[in-house]
Amino acid sequence: MSDSHRRTLPEQDTIFALSSGASQKAGVAVIRISGPHADVVLRHLLSAQDVSDPDPELALPKARMASLRKLFGGISSTSVDAGAALVGNMKEILDQALVLRFPGPRSFTGEDVVELHVHGGLAVVSAVTNELMRLRMHPLAIPLRPAEKGEFTRRAFENDRMDLTEVEGLADLISAETTEQRRLALRQMGGNLRVLYDSWRAQIIKCMANVEAVIDFGDDVDDDALDAMAPLLRDLEAELSAHVQDNRRGEIVRSGVRVAIVGAPNAGKSSLLNALAKRPAAIVSSVAGTTRDVIEVHLDVAGVAVILSDTAGIREETEDAIEQIGIERAKQALADADLVLHVVDVRQTDGASMRAFSDTQSDSVGVVTVFNKTDLSSEEERQVAAATMQQLGRAKGSELWISCTTGAGMDAFQSAFETRVRELLWNNSSGTGHECDASPTAVITRARHRVHVENAIHSLRTFIHEFLEQNNLPLDIATEELRHAASELGQITGTIHTEDVLDIVFQDFCIGK
Ligand code: GDP
Repeated sequence: MSDSHRRTLPEQDTIFALSSGASQKAGVAVIRISGPHADVVLRHLLSAQDVSDPDPELALPKARMASLRKLFGGISSTSVDAGAALVGNMKEILDQALVLRFPGPRSFTGEDVVELHVHGGLAVVSAVTNELMRLRMHPLAIPLRPAEKGEFTRRAFENDRMDLTEVEGLADLISAETTEQRRLALRQMGGNLRVLYDSWRAQIIKCMANVEAVIDFGDDVDDDALDAMAPLLRDLEAELSAHVQDNRRGEIVRSGVRVAIVGAPNAGKSSLLNALAKRPAAIVSSVAGTTRDVIEVHLDVAGVAVILSDTAGIREETEDAIEQIGIERAKQALADADLVLHVVDVRQTDGASMRAFSDTQSDSVGVVTVFNKTDLSSEEERQVAAATMQQLGRAKGSELWISCTTGAGMDAFQSAFETRVRELLWNNSSGTGHECDASPTAVITRARHRVHVENAIHSLRTFIHEFLEQNNLPLDIATEELRHAASELGQITGTIHTEDVLDIVFQDFCIGK
């Protein structure tokens, strides 16, 4: 493990990739080039003559100014054979492109970067990338190659343009599908976690320096330095502890609120799921493999990603091995749920069906009960249902009535559902969640962060209890606890890292990012 990733890198290859999505026919495609030879490569592309060394006087666009330029390529550009490619000095126009230069270190990667905003057609993109491939074979041996997955961002990290939490924020932003995922990712990419963890780490390191002074000067130094440190470390420990007690809000926003639909057979679970899935924001998928699969629907519920799973598979025990797998999966979906949607046939509220799922359901998970099949029910049955709900301790008038067949009550149900989802994340019944936005609090978004923060808390506690309070530890061993706490926080931001961790973080990226 290195205490710094600011290693001196050997001269880097210049890399290139299509950085915009690889869709068939986009209006614009962005090809990004990064590395010490970015300008040399650009000079070749802007030069109409196929010469080994383009006119060094050829005017490059001003830094960070968009410039409309013709890009040229060797006529035999489909060939990567060096000899063939350099026959004659004629070139053809590949495209008219907007060209931008970002000289390092003021660029995304910290290196010289060139962006080519070309027309988005497949032929244009491949003509330009083929030309870049051809330049690899150039007699001047420009060290140019296609970028690997996440390599632009990895360079940004290695050149100190981003810390690991910002890298993760960027990965999340690229894959964000809902408003809240976007907001969360944007804040993280903006450095809110980096600032928080760096400041905690700096405070611990300051305390360590004080302790080390005591060690160095032995008993000559009075205990004042240690005494002054105690409240500081206690406050810090309290802050870190509050940070982890967040109901996994950030992780849930990031990965989606897991909602399990439960209820008696034929209550209408699949019908409700289908009704919700018909909404434009839904994607239906099934966990592959069995006939009794758990069906998952991904919904955008008022800006929050929701993964709704139908646990229709939870029925009586079965001899059928395949069905048994389905049952296990359904039980797992229920165990993983952040919220339970309990569907009840309004005509069958006699208790047994109402209690059917309560055995499997844990107290910590919220439940939304919805009465279905109102189109078939009598007034009397609805009264019985409402009374049963009150027996179960629910507020009068809070019942939700729907008919999956006619669609009656679906809007009211949807808005109640939205409120519950947002409450789950922000304990806020107004359903706006704006306090989350306004809050300067940075939230944990990954298990990776949580593990390190918890380890840091453990070390701080050991130092406070075993050394400051009980005096059970010798000073030098106690200091190790502080060092460990600082190191744990440093691992979140990547100040301290191993290659393995980097590989895991960067595997979320695709080529061009
Ligand atoms: P599940 O076993 O809980 O998933 O229940 P299904 O969604 O498969 O529904 C069972 C039966 O009830 C099906 O025949 C549905 O068409 C029917 N059904 C579901 N919801 C309603 C409703 O609101 N009104 C009526 N009349 N029938 C419904």
